[in-house]
Order: sequence, then C-alpha cells, then structure tokens
Amino acid sequence: MQNSSKIATLEYAKDQDKKDPLQRFRAEFNLPTDANGKPKIYLCGNSLGLQPKLAQTYVQQELDDWAKLGVDGHTDAQNPWKPYHEFLSESMAKIVGAKASEVVMMNTLTVNLHLMMVSFYQPTSTRYKIIIESDAFPSDKYAVKSQLEFHGFNAEEALLEWTPREGEELCRYEDLEKLLKDNKGEVALLMLGNTNYYTGQKYPIKEITELGHAHNAIVGFDLAHGAGNIQPNLHENQVDFAVWCSYKYLNSGPGSVGGCFVHEKHANNKNLKRFAGWWGHNKDTRFNMRKEFDPIPGAEGWQLSNPPILSMAAIRASLEIFEKAGFENIRKKSEKLTGYLESLIENLGNNKIEIITPKNPADRGCQLSLKVKGADKKLFNQLSEAGVIADWREPNVIRVAPAPLYNSFEDVYEMVERLKKLLA
Ligand SMILES: *Cc1c(COP(=O)(O)O)cnc(C)c1O
Repeated sequence: MQNSSKIATLEYAKDQDKKDPLQRFRAEFNLPTDANGKPKIYLCGNSLGLQPKLAQTYVQQELDDWAKLGVDGHTDAQNPWKPYHEFLSESMAKIVGAKASEVVMMNTLTVNLHLMMVSFYQPTSTRYKIIIESDAFPSDKYAVKSQLEFHGFNAEEALLEWTPREGEELCRYEDLEKLLKDNKGEVALLMLGNTNYYTGQKYPIKEITELGHAHNAIVGFDLAHGAGNIQPNLHENQVDFAVWCSYKYLNSGPGSVGGCFVHEKHANNKNLKRFAGWWGHNKDTRFNMRKEFDPIPGAEGWQLSNPPILSMAAIRASLEIFEKAGFENIRKKSEKLTGYLESLIENLGNNKIEIITPKNPADRGCQLSLKVKGADKKLFNQLSEAGVIADWREPNVIRVAPAPLYNSFEDVYEMVERLKKLLA
C-alpha cells in the first residue's frame, strides 16, 4: 500500500506518467479543449472514445481514392474496398481473444445482437427462456424482449433477470446458478453484458459460459463496455457469440461499425438459421449473382451488406494503435490507472460518494461508478463546469473511465483534485 499523502500529489502523478511505457500514445489522439484551448480532463472513453489523429489520414485516403477511382476503388484503391473488412479482423481478434476467422466488423451493435439471436436463439415449446442482467443497457433489453415476442412468447414470463440482492449493487454468481436451477431445462440463452455499463462490474466469462453450457444453454455476451477494456478471451472461454460497438473503448468514431464474434465450433454449421445477405456469400462466387446462398465459413458468413468504408477506415486507424501498444500492456496500465483513481477517491474519505464498482481489478475494467448520496446531480454538473468530462447515469451515478491509451495519471489526479474542491 502506498503512503496515502504521497500519492495525492502532482509530483507523484507526473512521476507515474514518466514511468508509463504507453505514455507516448496520448499524443496520437485529439483531446477536446476548453474555450482557452486547454485540454479538458476527458474520462468518458466508456461513452465515446477520442479520435486517433491517424483516423483523419485514413478516412481522407478513402475519400481521395473514391474521387480518383470511382467504382474501380473496389479493386484498385490503395486499400481495396472489396476485402476492406478483412484488414481489421486480425487486430480486432487479438483484442477480444479470438481467431481472425471468428471475428467480423459489420453493422452496429444492436443489429448484430438481433442477427446473432436469429441464429442462436432457437426456442422450443419447453426451452425458451432468456437470462439477462437486470441492469442491462436498455437497447439489449428491448432487443431480447422483442425476440421473445417475435417467437410468440410472453416476455414477462420468459425473460429472467439476474438481479442484485436487496440493498446490493452487484450481481452474484451464485444467484445466476440458482436462476438456472430454478428454471431447469427451460433456459435457451444467457445474453449478458460485460462489463456492466452502470456498475462497471465485469462478470466472470469463463465460469458463466461453463455454467450456461452445463445447462445446455447458449451463452452470448454484449461487449460494448468490454471490447478494448478487458480481455474476454472469447475463443478459449468457449463463448458461443459476442457483439460489441467500436466507438467506446475502441475509439472508432460516433456510430461507427460494430463487431461480432461467432465461435469456431459454429463456423461450418450451415444448418444454423440466419438472416442472409450477399456479403456473407462465398467470395469466389459472390459476383456470379445467380447462385444459392453459400455462406462463408466463420463470422464473415453473417455479413449482409458491403461495408461502409469510411467508418472502417477510422476503425483501421484505431486498431493500428492497439496493435502497436499491445493489448496486454494496455490492460496492465489500465489496472494501475484505475487503481490510482480508486486510491485517491478513497483518500478523500468523503461519505457523499461511494464507489460501487468491484474492488478486485479482475472483476472490473477501467470504469469506476461513483454513487452520489442523495442522487445529487449538482455535483456532476459542477464537475463538468470544472472541465472534467465524465457522465451521469440515472438515478445516482457518475461514471469515470480513465482510458489507458490516452489518459494520464495526471488526468486522474486533476479530476480528483477538482472533485475534492467541490466536496469541500
Ligand atoms: C453502448 C451500448 C449499446 C449501444 O447500442 P448501438 O446499437 O451501438 O446503438 C448497446 N448495448 C450496450 C450494453 C451498450 O453499452
């Protein structure tokens, strides 16, 4: 344990930055500034990641090739558009612990979630229930409920919620076990977030997947807050499918194309029902246009349309930075940086705020959720006025997410200093 007064100094924070092997990557991002051109304290990468400077170059490259080549860009652009999505798969796969063939960038998160459920939620009259965490992101809940209703089930009855116990904020694994036992033989799908957008709790992916499979259920994860933040090891952990967006920790721009993982064990199963489109068809015969649908083995076989290249160019820029930094190093720094934030907040010893995110670094990503006593949003508003960009989630949480690629120990120190003044 560090001496608590020593770590709460600017000198200490600056020294940590000097020792940080990833420090140089901060300069590769555009940091939002205040009216005087001074960088704000940006701790909101959980909502929208910052822009890699390289994104401008890469998007411009595609605009230039489009201007110069028109339709010939599909084959003759510097980075040909026809196979463009393939340029992303390998780097993306490393970040989520998958094989390149198990990963594809396509559509957006909620669309991919629906496409995955079309294939992996195949209910019968006896096995039809879906488990979701009670505090799931609204879009996930809407998607799951509408799938249940689409198949003719009553969502009130068929949607099981994994809920924190009375007076607690976090979900307990034992309660998920119990939910499965109490509904033995009836659960078709576990569809859980990871990491939870509200509490920052990371659920144990390996254990949950084994548990679900032991009950003959399919297990899928929404990694909106996981991809680029924690290492889900999707392949090794035998997860059936996963979906995520690229604009949060993956820094690929607002509304940018999402990601999708389908485990290798499902890659060649042509009997899996799916909603099909031409981009998922065998590449050798795709342009014959007359053939019966012949899906590409692996995640690519779930593609529908030819992809938006401008969005993919921004993703390519971002993934290149991840590749250079190395995801293991990013995760290592993340644990330190968030641990520092936690220590500084605990040092304040102020009972107006309470960290509800798990204490164990293995059970969380970079985000800490600060519960504000009395649900006082004023504190958050004042923090914003003081030049800190975080966000507020109803009813009473300030989410603070130091992103290891561009946030510094000094950012974290400064944020807590400003918070301290407001609490005084
Ligand atoms: C951000 C987020 C979404 C957003 O979905 P889009 O389809 O990308 O708009 C969905 N689910 C979770 C858990 C999220 O965190």
